[in-house]
Amino acid sequence: MATLDLPTNPYLLLTPGPLSTSATVKAAMRRDWCTWDAEYNNLIQDIRTRLVALATSKITDYTAVLMQGSGSFSVESVLGSVVPHSGRLLIIANGAYGERMVQMATRMQIAISVLRVSELDRPTPELVAERLLQESDITHVACVHCETTTGMLNPVQEIGSVVKDAGKIWIVDAMSSFAGLPIDVANWDIDFLISSANKCIQGVPGFGFVIAKRTALLECAGIARSVSLDLFDQWQTMEQQNGKWRFTSPTHVVHAFYQAMLELEQEGGIAARHTRYQENQHLLVDGMLALGFKLVVENLAWHSPIITTFRYPEIENFSFSHLYEQLKTHGFVIYPGKVTDLDCFRIGNIGEVYAADIERLLVAMKKVCLEFKMDPVSA
Ligand SMILES: *Cc1c(COP(=O)(O)O)cnc(C)c1O
Repeated sequence: MATLDLPTNPYLLLTPGPLSTSATVKAAMRRDWCTWDAEYNNLIQDIRTRLVALATSKITDYTAVLMQGSGSFSVESVLGSVVPHSGRLLIIANGAYGERMVQMATRMQIAISVLRVSELDRPTPELVAERLLQESDITHVACVHCETTTGMLNPVQEIGSVVKDAGKIWIVDAMSSFAGLPIDVANWDIDFLISSANKCIQGVPGFGFVIAKRTALLECAGIARSVSLDLFDQWQTMEQQNGKWRFTSPTHVVHAFYQAMLELEQEGGIAARHTRYQENQHLLVDGMLALGFKLVVENLAWHSPIITTFRYPEIENFSFSHLYEQLKTHGFVIYPGKVTDLDCFRIGNIGEVYAADIERLLVAMKKVCLEFKMDPVSA
C-alpha cells in the first residue's frame, strides 16, 4: 500500500475560486465515502437546508438544488431549465460572466435580448425598466451580482425591484458573492440564485447550487434542454428520494463542502466573513495604491469585497508573467485580468485568507517591484 505525507501548500491562492481552503476542509476528502444509504442522503438534506438558511430567513418559500459540475454548469442548468420555449430572456451584461450567459442562451436557442453596459460601468434600474417597457415579450431577466471580471458589484437589489414590478422571473448569478456578503433572496425577491462550492463558502470545486423560489421552480417541469442539467428533475429526485442525486455525485467535494459550511458558521456566519473580506480588500487597495498601482474600477463604492482589478503600471519593462512568477516564488498566486482592451490583473480576497496574508503579500509585492525595477511609484 502506498503511503502519503500531506504536502504543505507552496503558495496561497489569491484567486476567485478555486481558492485557498482550510486544512480541515482538505482533510474531509481523505477517505472514500458511500452514497447509497441514509447517512449520505441525510447529509445532502442537511446541506440543502443550511444553504436555504444562509440565503434567507423565509426558509419555507425557497429550496436548494445541488448540481454537478463547475459553477457554469449550474448557470446553464438554470437558463436551460427555467426559460420556456415560448419565453424570452433579457441578459444584463457588463463583463465576461454576463457574456457567458449570452453564449449559453444562444447555444441553447433561447430567445434573448442583451442589455450591454461597459465593463467599467454598472447597469442601472432605469436602463432595465426602459428595456422592459420597449420589449414587453421579455419573460425572464438575468444578471451577475459580483462581475468577477472586474470585481464590480452590480446593484441587483435595485434592478430586481424593477424586474419584479414588471412581473418577470428574476435570475441572479451570485457565484462569487453568495456567502461573502449579505443577500436575502426573499427580501430581494430573487427567483433563482446560482453559486458554487468553491467560492465564498470556501469548499473545493465540483458542484454548484441553485437557491430557487419554490413557486417559480414548480413551473419548470419539462422545459430543460438537457437531461443531465435538468434542474427540475434534479430537484424532484432530491425532494422525493431524501437528498438523492440522479447521477454520480462528487462525494469528496460534498464532504469538504459540509466541513466548509460548519467553518463558515464557526467564523460567525456571513456577516463575519463579509467583514474579513472587506478588511482584506481595504488593506490590499490601500497598500497597492501606496505602491503606485491604479484601480480599474475607480469608484470604490462599486467594489465588491471579493476581488480587485489593477491596471498594469505604465512602465516600459512591466511584464505580468514576470510579476506572477516572482510572486509565486514568494508564496502568492494572483490572477490575470479579463477586461476587454485593458491590461490589468486581479487579486482575490476570498478563501482562507486573512489580514496578515495581505500584509505579507504587500511586502512581497514591494520587493518584486524593486527587484525588477518595476516600481510604479517612480514611473
Ligand atoms: C466563478 C464564476 C462563475 C462560474 O465559473 P466556473 O469556472 O464555471 O466555476 C460564474 N459566474 C461568476 C460571476 C463567477 O465568478
